[in-house]
Amino acid sequence: MSGGSVTLACQMLSCMAVKDLELEVVMITQCCVCRKIRKGTQWDASKPEELLGHDISHGYCPVCALNALAEIYATAPTKLPSQAETARASVA
Ligand SMILES: [Zn+2]
Repeated sequence: MSGGSVTLACQMLSCMAVKDLELEVVMITQCCVCRKIRKGTQWDASKPEELLGHDISHGYCPVCALNALAEIYATAPTKLPSQAETARASVA
């Protein structure tokens, strides 16, 4: 994995985080892995009563996002299949 692709992925995650902030007024953002919820710029453990009556948007906290990206990079193919390989796969 190159440093450039990690930087790009982090920039994409920051962009998504900014969009989540816009929703924060009406919606709680909760990590889909560790279940922490975002409080301003912090992620803290959630208590069940904090979630009552709120709509919940699920995403990744920064720690779980990095773990998820690492897993994606570790399992992604080193190169994309060619069009010919893709066509053969769809026929089979
Ligand atoms: Zn998390």
